[in-house]
Amino acid sequence: MSSVLQIDFGDRTPEPVVGIDLGTTNSLVAFMDLTGPKVIPGEDGDHLVLSVVHIGEGAPLVGNAARQMLIDDPERTVYSVKRLMGRGLADVAQEAGLFPFRFAEGSESVLRLRLGDRTFTPPEISALILLQLKRNAEACLGRPVTRAVVTVPAYFNDAQRQATKDAGRIAGLDVLRLVNEPTAASLAYGLDKRQDGIIAVYDLGGGTFDISILKIREGIFEVLATNGDTHLGGDDIDNRLLRIALEDIQSEWGQDLSHNGSAVQLLRRAVIETKEQLSFVPRVTMHLEYQGRSYQREIAREQFEALVRDIVDRTLTPCRNCIQDAGLTAEQIDEVVLVGGSTRIPLVRQAVEILFRARPHTELNPEEVVAMGAAVQAGILAGEVQDKLLLDVTPLSLGIENMGGVVSKIIHRNSTIPASATEVFTTAVDGQRNVLIHVVQGERELVKDCRSLARFDLKDIEPLPAGAPRIEVRFLIDANGILSVTARDQRTGKEHSVEVKPSYGLTDEQVEAMIRDSFERAEEDFAARQTREARLEADTILAALEKARAHAAWLEMAEPEKAAIEQALNELLTVYCSDDHVLIRAHIEKLNQATLRLAEVMMNTAVRTALKGTKV
Ligand code: ADP
Ligand code: MG
Repeated sequence: MSSVLQIDFGDRTPEPVVGIDLGTTNSLVAFMDLTGPKVIPGEDGDHLVLSVVHIGEGAPLVGNAARQMLIDDPERTVYSVKRLMGRGLADVAQEAGLFPFRFAEGSESVLRLRLGDRTFTPPEISALILLQLKRNAEACLGRPVTRAVVTVPAYFNDAQRQATKDAGRIAGLDVLRLVNEPTAASLAYGLDKRQDGIIAVYDLGGGTFDISILKIREGIFEVLATNGDTHLGGDDIDNRLLRIALEDIQSEWGQDLSHNGSAVQLLRRAVIETKEQLSFVPRVTMHLEYQGRSYQREIAREQFEALVRDIVDRTLTPCRNCIQDAGLTAEQIDEVVLVGGSTRIPLVRQAVEILFRARPHTELNPEEVVAMGAAVQAGILAGEVQDKLLLDVTPLSLGIENMGGVVSKIIHRNSTIPASATEVFTTAVDGQRNVLIHVVQGERELVKDCRSLARFDLKDIEPLPAGAPRIEVRFLIDANGILSVTARDQRTGKEHSVEVKPSYGLTDEQVEAMIRDSFERAEEDFAARQTREARLEADTILAALEKARAHAAWLEMAEPEKAAIEQALNELLTVYCSDDHVLIRAHIEKLNQATLRLAEVMMNTAVRTALKGTKV
C-alpha cells in the first residue's frame, strides 16, 4: 500500500500582505520574505509596471503592455493618472492640455476621463494598475493576495488619500494602511537601526517632489517635517526637452507636430530615453523616425544640465523650508536618502549634496526603495516584523471656519499622526439652534484660500444667549491621515460626527457601483475577447480557402460543391463583423464542413506529388 503525503500550508501561513508603490510613472509591488523585502517581477520579468492603462475593445491593457498604445491609440491611453486622483476639474485645469484624452461632462467634483465611448474615474484607472500588481503578486506567491499597504506622496491631501483607498477597494484589495512614500523609503533603508540622527529623504520621481526630515532616536523614527511640490518631477524635464525637439522639427521640416498625438508620444519616448541615458554617459543622440522622415540631435550632458537646471533648482526652496520647519539647519542633517528615478541625474545628486552638505545614500535602487519599505510596513502589519514604530505627520493644517470667514486651525501641519485635538466654540446669535461646521484644510488664514473638506450641521442645540453655548469640536486623524470630526454641545450632550468625505471625492455608493461595474465589465471584456478570437479563427480559414482556390484541387470540385463552399464563405463574411462569437464560430464550422472534400482532394494531390519520382 502506498499513500501520498500532502502538505497543507493553508491554515498555518497567514495570508500575505503586500507593499505597493502606486507611482505616477511606475508602480511596483513587493513583499517580505525571510531575508527581507523583495520586489515582485511582472509577466515580462520587469520589476516596474508602467503606470499606463489602455482601454480598448477587449480587456484593458495595463503596464508595459500598454506602452505601445501611448503611440497607437493615445486618446484611450491614460498615464500619470496619479496626478488626477481625488481632484476636480478646477484642480487640473492647467495640465488638462497635456493629456491626450478628454474629460467627460460633470467632471467638476470627480473627474471622469472619456476613453472611447466609456468614462472612467481616476480611482477606477488606478484600480486596474493595482489589479495588475495584485495578479503579479499572486502569480509569484502562488496564492490569493487581498491585503496591501499602499504608499502615497507625503503631500497628498485627504481627498487624494481617500481616492487611493477607493482604488484599492475597486481592485479587491483591502488597503490596511496608507504610508507616506518617504517614510516607506526610510524603512527600506533600515534607518531604525541607527541609535540616533537626522535624515533627509529627497524623492524626485516622475510627477512629484517630496522632501522629508526624519529624526531617529533609540531605533524609533519620527517625521519632523515634510514639504514638496506635487507638480515637479521627471515629467517636467521631459516636457522641456519635448518642446525643444518640437521646435527643432518645426524649423527643420516646416511642420508643427505638437498637435499630432501619436508623433508627440513617439517623440516623448525618444526624449525620455535620451534623458535617462544622459545620467550615465556624457552625450547622447536623440532620434525620431516619423512618416519616412528622420530627426536627430546630439545632446551633451552640460547642455542638458543647462536646460534643466532651473527645474532642479525648484526642488531647493521646499528643502530649505522643510529644514526650517523641522527647526534645524542643514549642518544638523546627518544623512540624506535619495528616492525616485530622477535622482539618478548627476546634477540632482550634486545639488542635493551641496544643499545638505552630505553625500547622499544611493545604495538601494531609487525606483524600488518605496515599494520595499511598503513591504516592510506590510510585514509589520502581518506580524512578521516586530519592534518598528512609524510616526507620520499631517502635511497640511486642518481647521474650521470661524466668524468672518477666518480659519481656526485645530490640528497644525506637521503634527504627528494619529492625532487628535479639541477646541470649544460658541454661537454668534441669541437663541441660535443650529451651527454649521465647515471643515477646511490649508495654511492660509482665510477660508476662501483653503480647501473645503466638508460641511455639516450640529442641530438642536439649546437656545441660549449668544456666547453662552459651549460647542466642543474634536478632530481625529487616524494612522492613514484620514480625518473624522465630531461636534458636541457640552450642555445637552448632543453630538454629530462625520468621517470627512472630501468635497472632491467619491461617495461610498459610487465606489460600490464601480466595484459592481468592474465585475459586470469583466463579463463584457470576456465576451469581447471571445469575439476577437473567433475572428482570428475565421481569418485563418478564410486565408486557407483563398489559397485552396488557387490550387489545382479546386478545379476537381463539382459545381454544386463549389456553390456550397461559396455560400458558406459568404455567410461567414456576413457575420464576421458581428459581436456574436457563437454565430461566427457556427459559420466557421459550416465552412469547415463545406470544404471537407476540398481538403481531402488537396491532401491526395499533395501525397501524389510527394510520391512522384519515388521508387516504391
Ligand atoms: P514615480 O514615483 O513618480 O512613479 P519613479 O520614482 O518611478 O517615479 O521615477 C520615474 C522618473 O524617473 C521618470 O521621469 C523617469 O524618466 C525618471 N528616470 C528613470 N531613470 C532615470 C535615469 N537614469 N535618469 C534620469 N531620470 C530617470
Ligand atoms: Mg515614487
